[in-house]
Amino acid sequence: MRQSDYIMALDLGTTGNRAIIFDRNGQIKGQAYRELTQHYPQPGWLEHDAAEIWREVRWAMQASLENAAVAAEEIAAIGLTVQRETCLLWDKTTGQPLHNAIVWQDRRTAPLCDRLRAAGKADLIYDKTGLILDAYFSATKLNWLLDAVKQQGINDLSNVLAGTIDSWVLWNLTGGQVHATDHSNASRTMLLNLATHQWDKDLLDLFEIPASLMPKVCPSLSEFGRLDESILGVEIPIMAILGDQQAALFAHGCDRPGLLKCTYGTGSFLVAHTGHEVVRANQLLSTIAWSFQKVDGTVEVCYALEGAIFTSGACIQWLRDGLKLIQDAAESEALACQVPDTDGVYFVPALSGLGAPHWDMSARGAFMGLTAGAQREHLVRAVLEAIAFQVKEVVNAANSADARPIALLKVDGGACNNNFLMQFQADALGIPVERPEVLDATAQGAAFAAGLASGFWHDYHALVETRKVDKVFEPRANAVTTEHFARWEKAVSKAKDWTT
Ligand code: ADP
Repeated sequence: MRQSDYIMALDLGTTGNRAIIFDRNGQIKGQAYRELTQHYPQPGWLEHDAAEIWREVRWAMQASLENAAVAAEEIAAIGLTVQRETCLLWDKTTGQPLHNAIVWQDRRTAPLCDRLRAAGKADLIYDKTGLILDAYFSATKLNWLLDAVKQQGINDLSNVLAGTIDSWVLWNLTGGQVHATDHSNASRTMLLNLATHQWDKDLLDLFEIPASLMPKVCPSLSEFGRLDESILGVEIPIMAILGDQQAALFAHGCDRPGLLKCTYGTGSFLVAHTGHEVVRANQLLSTIAWSFQKVDGTVEVCYALEGAIFTSGACIQWLRDGLKLIQDAAESEALACQVPDTDGVYFVPALSGLGAPHWDMSARGAFMGLTAGAQREHLVRAVLEAIAFQVKEVVNAANSADARPIALLKVDGGACNNNFLMQFQADALGIPVERPEVLDATAQGAAFAAGLASGFWHDYHALVETRKVDKVFEPRANAVTTEHFARWEKAVSKAKDWTT
C-alpha cells in the first residue's frame, strides 16, 4: 500500500478547468488545464455544457496524475472549488443535464429581476441573503431553467436535481450518491438565508423552486463523500468544497477582519473577511466566506464582503476570440507597452452589464474617444487600463465602508500574469500590489482546505507561510492622473442604462 502524500485540487473556473496535485510542502507537483467551450446563444446569454465540464474533470484528474507521476492511491483527499452561481438541472436516473448550465455572467433573467424590484422584493432579498437583486445569482436562472424544462414537457420533477457546478460535479464524482453543496457556494444562489444557513422557504416560493430539488447544505471543510472507485480505481475522500473566490481568500490567509484579496480571472473579485458577523456595506455583497465543523460538532460560519466585477480577463478572451486583435492573452501586455498612453481611447468593460459598484444589468460595453489615430495598441491598452479602473472603483467603495483604508492589494488569478496591468493597478490605486508566485490561489485554497479537513495538514498559518511573493508593484507618483480616471468614469456613465 502506497503512502498518501498528495492532495488533489479540482478548480473548475469559467474560462477553463484545472486539476493540481500539491505535495506535503504545499508545492505544486503537477497539473492539467484545458479551456472550456463558451456558448453564446443570444446577446447577453452565456451557457456551459455541464456534460463537457464533467468530461473535462475526468480528463484533468487523470492528466494531472500523469503529469505529476503520482498514482491515484497516493492522493489523500480531494478539494473542489468552482465558478459560482452557474447552475443547472439534471435527471438523476439518466445522469444527463436537462439543459445547458446558465453561467453567472448570463443576463437573460434581467427582466424577471426588474419585475421583482418593481414588486418591492429587493429589500427582502438583500436582508435575507446579503445579495443585491441581480441576474448574476442562481435563483432567477433556476426559475428560467424550470420553465424551459416544463416547456420540454417535463412536468414530473421527482427525478430532477438542481445545483451549482460543485453539486453537479460532486454528484458525478460520488457515482450519483451525494447531492450536496457547501455554505460558500450556497450563499451565492440568492436562496440561502444568511441567518439560518439553510435554504429560505420564502425565497424558494418566490422563485418557484421546489425545495426537493435543492442540494443539502454542508460545511465547506467536511467529508462530502468519496470518489467512486470506477473513476480512478480507488476511493478518495472529498474533503472540501468552496466557491472560487472564497477558496482564494482562504489561500491568501485572509481569515480575520481587515484582510482581503483581489482575484483577476474571468471577472475581478475583491473579497474581505469580516469575521463571524455579517457586515453590510453600500453596493457590496455580504456573503459566506467558509464554514467548518468544530470539535464539539457545532458548525462555525465566517462571512465576507465582496465587490464583484463581472468582466476582466473575459475582455482579454474577447480581444483574442471575438475581435482577433491578439493571438494570446500574454500579447496584450506587449502591445500595451508599445504606446505611451491610449491616445484618448477609453473602454467600458460592461460586456455582461456592470456589477459592483454600479449594479446595472442594462449597461453594455463601449469604446469611447475614438479618432482616426486610434490603433490596435491603444485599444488593447484601454482594455487593460479599464480592468484596473474597475478594481479602483471597488477599492474606493470598500474604503468608504471602512475607517481603515486598504494599504496593500494582495492579488491572484490568470490576468495577474500581466505586468503592465499590475503596475497600472498600483499606479491607479496609489498602493502596492503584491503578486504571489503561485497565481492559482483558487486551487491552492481548495487543496489547503481539503488537506486541513482530512488531517493531512494541521497548521493553516504554516501552510499560508509556504506561499512566496513573486513581486511587489510599487505605485509611481502621478503615473495615473485623477483626470484620466475621471474621464474613464465619464465613459462608464455613458454606457449605463443601455438596453432598457
Ligand atoms: P477563471 O478562474 O475565471 O477561469 P483564471 O484565473 O484561470 O480565470 O484566469 C483566466 C483569465 O486570465 C482569462 O480570462 C485570460 O484571458 C486571463 N489572462 C491570462 N493570462 C493573461 C495575461 N498575460 N494578460 C491578461 N489576461 C490574462
